[in-house]
Amino acid sequence: MNEKVRCLIIGSGPAGYTAAIYASRANLSPVLYEGLQPGGQLTTTTDVENFPGYPSGITGPEMMEDLKKQAERFGTDVRFGMATAADLSSSPYKITIDNEKVIEAETVIISTGATAKYLGIPDEQKYSGSGVSACATCDGFFYRNRKVAVVGGGDTAAEEALYLSNIAEKVYLIIRKDHMRASKIMQERVFANDKIEVLFEHETEGLTGDNVVQGANLIKRRGQPDEEKVHIEIEGFFLAIGHTPNSEIFKPYLETDEVGYIKVVPGTPRTSIPGVFASGDVADPHYRQAVTAAATGCMAAMEAERYLTEKGL
Ligand code: NDP
Repeated sequence: MNEKVRCLIIGSGPAGYTAAIYASRANLSPVLYEGLQPGGQLTTTTDVENFPGYPSGITGPEMMEDLKKQAERFGTDVRFGMATAADLSSSPYKITIDNEKVIEAETVIISTGATAKYLGIPDEQKYSGSGVSACATCDGFFYRNRKVAVVGGGDTAAEEALYLSNIAEKVYLIIRKDHMRASKIMQERVFANDKIEVLFEHETEGLTGDNVVQGANLIKRRGQPDEEKVHIEIEGFFLAIGHTPNSEIFKPYLETDEVGYIKVVPGTPRTSIPGVFASGDVADPHYRQAVTAAATGCMAAMEAERYLTEKGL
């Protein structure tokens, strides 16, 4: 027998837990599955200083633990487990957990987040939280008047480089091609900024430093006759080579953009299927902040409550 629930929340970042707080307070008896990385992306950051209400900041893991406690306090059933398959063809929607158990849910809130892409070099792990970051808005502040590098040539990289240029002494923008993919206007802003030095046709070989990042070894024009080794002194190394939204199992049923972000009705968490909502980074290519994720989680729970009331469920 499949388990039946009124509100199933998938994911345990700020979006999932905020949805859980609202859904449990609305008596929807939500069940939340935490996924592979309980607490989500914030558990990999150090201090969160931009979430309103924490004047002295809070560590990412502590904040997620608090959100979890708050969700549980109102009765959310928080469980270990990963959604491994979905059947959204008819209501109640069927979500398979850990390839075994099937949950039949009247409403589903997808808060599975997005995963920042990394280059895949071992030094990224080695210096994780010690100079390597995939979020300039989260961690840029720690590099005031320092030298930093951003990797990537898209709009995110341009945006992160411009953001960091207001904080850091100097920003290297490391781009593997001889041109940027970012929109024209963003490129113009980057080129007009004195603090940003664009390094076209450079790839990162590795990072250097005792315990914390102190430099990066780059290769210029790899494989060409004039290939050159380049070393830059930096203290922060920011990845901005894209994110992968965790939407794979829902793609047969829900509209996504070309990258895989779930499309929602603008200004709402409503997907193309009634009763299925998407909140947080899985549906947000633009803001990707804890506070915006939390806000859309709240909206998703309110929508779920209204949907259930309207259907008399
Ligand atoms: P994109 O996929 O647009 O760009 C990724 C960049 O990273 C590319 O320059 C790519 O290089 C580079 N890259 C990828 N893999 C590697 C690698 N292994 N080594 C080195 N470089 C690598 O991702 P974004 O996150 O920038 O943007 C995603 C979407 O969000 C886009 O549609 C963008 O327009 C949008 N966006 C819009 C914003 C705005 O309007 N203000 C702000 C931020 C994002 P290459 O070009 O060689 O493939």
